[in-house]
Amino acid sequence: MQKIQGRLNLEPRIVSDERRIPSQRPLFADLMAKIEEDILEGRLRPGERLEEIALSRKYSVSRTPIREALRQLAATRLIDIQPRLGAVVARPTVGEVIDLFEVVAELEGVAAALAAQRMDAGDKQSIQNKHAAVRKSAQGNDAKTYYLMNGQFHRAIHAAAHNRVLADEIEVLDKRLAPYRRFITFRPGRTQEALQEHDAILAALINKDADTARAAMIEHVRVLGDDAVHLVKGLSIS
Ligand SMILES: [Zn+2]
Repeated sequence: MQKIQGRLNLEPRIVSDERRIPSQRPLFADLMAKIEEDILEGRLRPGERLEEIALSRKYSVSRTPIREALRQLAATRLIDIQPRLGAVVARPTVGEVIDLFEVVAELEGVAAALAAQRMDAGDKQSIQNKHAAVRKSAQGNDAKTYYLMNGQFHRAIHAAAHNRVLADEIEVLDKRLAPYRRFITFRPGRTQEALQEHDAILAALINKDADTARAAMIEHVRVLGDDAVHLVKGLSIS
């Protein structure tokens, strides 16, 4: 016990204040969440430069927590820190977007297969509720609500898979894809197709048919991936 206390007492001398203090404040978590949300919701666009002075004004904080936030966001690959340019919002190439969707499709497929085998009554109810919410939001013209509801349907399936590592990995990859996903999810005509695909996934889950659930989910996410690739090409991101 004494040994552990000794170690704890030494820590402030080893780790510089600049790196330690910001991440211990609840305010720092708010700052991280705000920058992340601005990227995920497209207010900070792929390729946009993130200058510390401008950001510290925008978020009303000093430059030290901004620098730490950028460092942590770089670790999740939402932003890139480049030697001369500094921090920029990550702008994946067409190849990277294809790679990301390939992996996400497979992981979503695993989640659907596990959910078919493991979901309990509560999971089933939750997936059915989210499915109904997606259907309802598709009738309106609110792309943002539809996007959010669609995400909740998928997350209900991740939760029903009962595998924390899998859910965490999908979440990290989803964040990297979010800037592209939100533009393509609500393409006219696509929402009706997507609803039918959700129907098929849900039916397979209820039948506890893991193979069909997996295949249906992979196909569903792949179509989204194809659209994303067209979008990225359209933005002439090389
Ligand atoms: Zn979907």
